[in-house]
Amino acid sequence: MRVLVVGGGGREHALVWKLKQSPRVTKVYCAPGNAGIARDADCIHIKAEDVQGLLNFALKNEIGLTVVGPEAPLNAGIVDRFEAAGLKIFGPSQAAAEIEGSKVLSKEIMARYGIPTASYAVFTDPAEAASYIKRTGAPCVVKADGLAAGKGVIVALDEESALDAVRSIMMDKDFGAAGERLVVEERLSGEEVSILAFTDGVSVVPMIASQDHKRAYDNDEGPNTGGMGAYAPAPVYTADVHRKTMEEILIPMVQAMNNEGRTYRGVIYAGLMVDENGPKVLEFNARFGDPEAQPVLMLLETDLVDIIEAILEKRLGQIEIKWKEQAAVCVVLASGGYPGSYEKGKVIKGLENPGGEVLVFHAGTAAKDGDIVTAGGRVLGVTAAGSDIPSAIERAYAAVEKIHFDGMHYRHDVGRKALERLK
Ligand code: ATP
Repeated sequence: MRVLVVGGGGREHALVWKLKQSPRVTKVYCAPGNAGIARDADCIHIKAEDVQGLLNFALKNEIGLTVVGPEAPLNAGIVDRFEAAGLKIFGPSQAAAEIEGSKVLSKEIMARYGIPTASYAVFTDPAEAASYIKRTGAPCVVKADGLAAGKGVIVALDEESALDAVRSIMMDKDFGAAGERLVVEERLSGEEVSILAFTDGVSVVPMIASQDHKRAYDNDEGPNTGGMGAYAPAPVYTADVHRKTMEEILIPMVQAMNNEGRTYRGVIYAGLMVDENGPKVLEFNARFGDPEAQPVLMLLETDLVDIIEAILEKRLGQIEIKWKEQAAVCVVLASGGYPGSYEKGKVIKGLENPGGEVLVFHAGTAAKDGDIVTAGGRVLGVTAAGSDIPSAIERAYAAVEKIHFDGMHYRHDVGRKALERLK
């Protein structure tokens, strides 16, 4: 079977790596891919958002299965379009993907079905949002309704930054139409964890819990990023948190989506905040997280094609999904200046011998004159497996030490929270 992976980041490199191992896959294409993916798949010059271009390609090249990485094509309805053309594709429909595409919708569904989340209010008028903030005070979290590549969420510690956030989202329109509505939310505290699950709309099978590192610098300092590292399994996700997550969040959410006429099929991602009372939802995403996909897929034992086909045929409950009894850690190497502005085209050295049980997934890379050069903010995801978190951390950082490009920066504390909990 020929498989097409849509996207070009570390998550898609991990998907390509995993799908390629399936004995049922004869060829993997990736659109648009990157310089690292090009070693494992045929990269084609079609943007992930170009749904028509991807559809034409899939029809012409007899693609047996398309797997979508990023949220933009899902929210643009790629799954509906492919299915209408009789093609197999893995991901939620446009109506289902809206739980990520609209924070207002996602909050409304959670409120309707009693799924634990931060209390909130929705605004279409900046003056009303501002007077609400003045009345309720800070800290609070201000969120643009629509997709804003992880940048539309402002955790405001004081009233002034909350009001600034309202101004930037609604008046300066920094996120365009994504900011026509906004959510003002109670700030939750605790420890964050990501739980991704496979679902066919009937069964919900959780993956290994992982933890992202969203802030740019060590000790969770600096601005928010797309994610500077991740590890799995996350010890904060205890058996008790797991039970509550399944019973109070994931299963009710999948059922709610059925009730709402938005049957969910694909990967559902719950970003949770965990405190002594259990988990609450920070957000739902409609796809694998990046970087979380990198350590999680590294630990997946079962053939991903078998899982996807079971989902497409609504028999997920009948298959067994196995995980390696290991831990995995991903350290993201970013361009100098990221998540702000940065230069591209820096030559990357030291990619040849990362060491055993280490995979260097590429994100923002390109090939130029025989070199691999930087081409994005997040450049590489150095991902290592080990018998436990400490050994995976050690392997990942040993590989990081070998890699260099001008301006390269990364977090030195990926996995530290796990180590503290394991003590
Ligand atoms: P991404 O696309 O990167 O996943 P996003 O734009 O969808 O991000 P959220 O995940 O909703 O945004 O929020 C980003 C981060 O902001 C969260 O990971 C969390 O650290 C923080 N955050 C969001 N909501 C809250 C909240 N209610 N209380 C405390 N922190 C929050």
